[in-house]
Amino acid sequence: MEFSNYCFDTLCVQGNPEAKSVDLSGAISVPLVQSATFAHPGLGKSTGYDYSRLSNPTRKFLEETVAALDGAKFGFAFSCGMAAETAFFSMLETKSHIISSDDIYGGSLRLFNTIVKKQGIETTFVDTSSLEQIERAFRPDTKIVFIETPGNPLMTVTDIQKTAELAHSHGALLVVDNTFLTAYYQKPLALGADVVIQSGTKFLAGHNDVLAGFVTTNNEKIAEDMAFITKTTGSMLAPFDSWLTIRGIKTLTVRLEKQSENAAKLAQYLKTEKLVKKVLYIGLPETPGHEIHKSQASGFGSMISIYLDSSKTVERFLRKIRIFRYAESLGGVESLATYPLTQTHSEIPEEKRKQKGITDTLIRLSVGIENFEDLKNDIKQALED
Ligand SMILES: *Cc1c(COP(=O)(O)O)cnc(C)c1O
Repeated sequence: MEFSNYCFDTLCVQGNPEAKSVDLSGAISVPLVQSATFAHPGLGKSTGYDYSRLSNPTRKFLEETVAALDGAKFGFAFSCGMAAETAFFSMLETKSHIISSDDIYGGSLRLFNTIVKKQGIETTFVDTSSLEQIERAFRPDTKIVFIETPGNPLMTVTDIQKTAELAHSHGALLVVDNTFLTAYYQKPLALGADVVIQSGTKFLAGHNDVLAGFVTTNNEKIAEDMAFITKTTGSMLAPFDSWLTIRGIKTLTVRLEKQSENAAKLAQYLKTEKLVKKVLYIGLPETPGHEIHKSQASGFGSMISIYLDSSKTVERFLRKIRIFRYAESLGGVESLATYPLTQTHSEIPEEKRKQKGITDTLIRLSVGIENFEDLKNDIKQALED
C-alpha cells in the first residue's frame, strides 16, 4: 500500500511505512541510531549511509514521515526551526528580494533584518492579509514571498492559494511557516505553496523537550539545494532529537484535537472576563480572517492572543499564573503564556510594534492538554486583584 493511502493519524503513529531504510528488526519504536559514521562493506559499496551529517537512519525516518504528513516528496530535519529557515534562505542568490508578512515569529524578523540582509537580500514587510499590499511590493528581483498564517502574535490570516498564484505570476516562490497548525490542520503545499518551513519544537514534537525544524517541498531543485546545504553547513537534527520528535509526532492528532478544544472553550470564557479587552482566536467568527482561514484549514489550533486592560494587570497575571507558565514557546502539552513585547517580538522597533498592536497589554497563550476547568480557574485567579 502506498503511504499516500494512509490516513494522517495513522501516518503520525506508524511513521512513513515507505521509509524502510531503518532496519526495524521488529522493533515497534524506531531504533535510535546513535552513530556518527557507517562502515562500508567494501570498495565502492555502501549501506546507503556514510556519515551522519549527510544522512542518518533515524533522522531519515523522521524526514520521510514529516514529508508524508506535509504531502511533500522531500523533507529535511534541522536542529531547530531557525536553523531550517537559515538553511533555506542561504540558498538565495545575493541581490534578491523577499516579501514577508509583518505578523511573523520574531526570530524570522531578526533573520531577515540581519543575516539575510548581510547576504545582500532585502526584505519588504507587508500586511499579507491584503493581496494589494503584496502585489505592490513586488520587484523584478523578488524571489520569495514568505508568510505565516495565522500570524504571530496577531493571528493575521493570509490567503495561501491566492498568494501562491500571485507569487507564481511574478516568478517567485511561496514559502509558508506552518508552525501554528501543522499539516494536520493546514496543508500549504496542496494549496499551491512551494515550500513549508516549520519549527518542530512546537506542535509537531509537542512536549517542550526538544528543538527541531523542517523544510518540506515537492520542488526537486530546492531539495537538491537543501541536501547540499545540510551536507555543507551541518545544521541537521541529531539522532536522539530525531527520535524524540518521531515519538512526539505519534500523538500529534490527539494532542491537537484536545488543545484546540480547550482553546475554543477558553476563548469563549476569556470574552466574559472584564479585564480582558480583546480576544484574538481564529476560531472566533469576529476575529478578522476567520472565513478565509476556514476555507483553507480544517481546524483552528490552540493559539490565543489577548489584550488586558493595563500593563499592571499583565504584571499581576504573569506573576500569579500557576498552571499556565510564563515562558517563551508554544504548541506543547503544557499551557504557556508569552509576553511578545519583551520575549518573542522584542526586536521590532517600537514604532512598528505600536502600529501593529504589539503593546504592553498583549499576552499570547498557548493552550495545552490540561483539564479545561483547571485552565480556566487558573486564569480567573491570576486576573483577580
Ligand atoms: C518557534 C518558531 C520558530 C523558530 O523555531 P525554533 O525551533 O525555536 O528555532 C519559527 N517560526 C515560528 C512560527 C515559531 O513559533
